[in-house]
Amino acid sequence: MSRFWSPVVHDLEPYVPGEQPKMANLIKLNTNENPYGPSPKVLDAIRLATSDILRLYPDPNATALKQSIADHHQLAINQVFVGNGSDEVLAHVFHAFFQQQAPLLFPDITYSFYPVYCQLYQIDHQAIPLTNAFEIKVEDYFRENGGIIFPNPNAPTSRLLDLAEIEKLLQKNTESVVVIDEAYIDFGGETAIVLVDKYPNLLVTQTLSKSRSLAGLRIGFAVGHPDLIAGLVRIKDSFNSYPLDSLAITAGVAAFEDQAYFEQTCQKVIDSRKWVTSELEALGFTVLPSGANFVFATHPHNDAAELSTGLRKEGVIVRHFKQERIQQYLRITIGSTEENQQLLAVMDTLI
Ligand SMILES: *Cc1c(COP(=O)(O)O)cnc(C)c1O
Repeated sequence: MSRFWSPVVHDLEPYVPGEQPKMANLIKLNTNENPYGPSPKVLDAIRLATSDILRLYPDPNATALKQSIADHHQLAINQVFVGNGSDEVLAHVFHAFFQQQAPLLFPDITYSFYPVYCQLYQIDHQAIPLTNAFEIKVEDYFRENGGIIFPNPNAPTSRLLDLAEIEKLLQKNTESVVVIDEAYIDFGGETAIVLVDKYPNLLVTQTLSKSRSLAGLRIGFAVGHPDLIAGLVRIKDSFNSYPLDSLAITAGVAAFEDQAYFEQTCQKVIDSRKWVTSELEALGFTVLPSGANFVFATHPHNDAAELSTGLRKEGVIVRHFKQERIQQYLRITIGSTEENQQLLAVMDTLI
């Protein structure tokens, strides 16, 4: 607390990211990082770009990266916006589109950064309860609103919504911006990017942090109608001209060039997810059907907070949220085969 703070700072309740412990040898299944690491071609590209060139400012428009993303998704370059992680992209999205008369709608159980951005930008919002099975029912969003946002698959529930449902929502909701946060879409879901040409109020965000294993570089993007993108660019150019450094731009381009590595590693995560799910179920857990690189699981006879503490004592960290409706659940990232085996071995001793 300081008397020098602006009033808005006093009331902020900042987002709390999963911890990045300094201890070595921990099995880190708490922040949905990718166990396989970036493509070797990405690392080569970064090495090549690590030169005297770093004395220059990067391309403020990150044109090369936008072009890669546009080519990958068969879009025009003016339909693409990039930022320093999709968290930054999302912050600009809230700022650019959601300060409206009517409230922003998002699920009661969802990415916990959304209410933080609402507080930062003073955006009125309404939480729409997920069903008892933690599903998004699009009919619940057929009401007056100043915008709609949810992740697909949702976080931390991991549940995937069909593209047909998203289209149903877009057909009904034409007067405000609908944002689908696809941080985990590459783990088996169908992207809504195919709908952006049809719905000028649809914006889809993605990240290179999870499926392309580049969380440390901070690269996120949004795609949508050129007018939406132009709004985001106005915010960005009033905030930071160079959100992406030259190494990130180079690495991002290289990541989209290595499609084979991307597909192989995503498939490995999907296969492991199936295995971890069935092993957890064999231990008595209920595991929600997951479309992400993590599972959301609860045990009928074991307290989730105690399980989390017990795992930690044995060097395995997972995420537990002390939030109503989900305090008996654990969010467990899919790790490497060895990490998954270790998780299950420790869990077996705790149950
Ligand atoms: C991880 C995550 C993000 C943020 O990704 P970054 O690009 O690393 O900032 C955004 N939304 C959801 C739902 C996420 O899980």
